[in-house]
Amino acid sequence: MALKRKNPILRTRLPTLPPAARSRAALGLTAAAAEGRFALQSCKDCGTVQYPPREACQRCLSQKLVWKSDKGSGELVSDTTLHHSNDLFFRERLPWRLGLVRLDSGPSVVAHLHAGIAAAPARVTVSARLDRAGQAVIVAFPDAKETDMANDRQLREFGCDPRNRKVLVTDGKSAVGQALVQGLAAAGAELIWVGHAEPWKKFPGFAELEKIPQVTLVPLDVTDSKSVQEVAAEIGGKVDILVSNAELHRAYGIGNRAGVETARAEMDVNYFGLLRLAQHFGGVMRARGADGQASAVAWVNLLSIYALANFPPHGTFSASKAAAHSLAQCLRAEMRPAGVRVLNVFPGPIDDEWNQLIQPPKIAPANLARAIVAALRDGVEDAYPGDVAQEWLERWRDNPKALEKELSS
Ligand SMILES: [Zn+2]
Repeated sequence: MALKRKNPILRTRLPTLPPAARSRAALGLTAAAAEGRFALQSCKDCGTVQYPPREACQRCLSQKLVWKSDKGSGELVSDTTLHHSNDLFFRERLPWRLGLVRLDSGPSVVAHLHAGIAAAPARVTVSARLDRAGQAVIVAFPDAKETDMANDRQLREFGCDPRNRKVLVTDGKSAVGQALVQGLAAAGAELIWVGHAEPWKKFPGFAELEKIPQVTLVPLDVTDSKSVQEVAAEIGGKVDILVSNAELHRAYGIGNRAGVETARAEMDVNYFGLLRLAQHFGGVMRARGADGQASAVAWVNLLSIYALANFPPHGTFSASKAAAHSLAQCLRAEMRPAGVRVLNVFPGPIDDEWNQLIQPPKIAPANLARAIVAALRDGVEDAYPGDVAQEWLERWRDNPKALEKELSS
């Protein structure tokens, strides 16, 4: 797509973000959007579904409001194309197409329109997406199945599609790392740097990775600050999406392992590895959040559902992932003003060598990679790929204490 060159005099040094102020009531929409869901306020007393979110029901004034997932189906009743805006964010991105959608569930919403939507009236499906300020906005998609969903100029502003972007995958040695590289290449990533901690060793799958034209292997050891610093100095200014996937996973609790060496090694990769990456790549990626279509857009952390509740047979690994989760929340807060999204991924047990003793179902590395690419496209903040992760998430939401008991029995 041809892009109009910006007048350099008008260039904005800081990333311009969409207006970010929302009421507390509106955060329900954002919380759902962060997980890729579209939810609306629904009244427990009279059943009215309402939008925009309010403190009380617009029909009966009840305060018993709950957030319920909505299919988002509706009709586009009018549409318009903005050519002027008082808001700097939109001014840099004009023209911008918006429309009014009457949802089948009742309320009408103003939505950003996917380019594939015909002029009103037209059937559409709306969904919530996070904008660059990390707030929910509503986007309407055409109902026609054949539309290319990913390749849309307006939609690209709300997601972190790997297509035509430069990606660093910090570990190419693991099964998940290799599946990620394959998945990102298939999704159209322009360039993929693949880290390997021991460049003198050929790891299994090495030859397959080298065959992918976009791939460049880089020596990268996340347990070594100097190594991280060197790679950041070399490519940090070009990375649009960083995937922090290096992990060390050993199956130990507390009682079946003496000493702290194993736990320390897990922390060194899973927690300090993330910290080192954040220290050396965070600043330069923040600085590149403002570079328009060629900006840094996302940071992906491979966490684990065990970050939410400890799984005692893998107790120290769980603890390292919980620490990484907490650090990732800090990273997210620091990256948000630059418009760089932090995507935390919480898979259940992965079908790899360290989970051999765990009963299925387990998530296959290829499916995990597919879920991560989809989460990037949708621009979500938290992803729980696979049935096990989804089920545990539900239980954790419902009752964190109950999940702790279940995992420990
Ligand atoms: Zn009501």
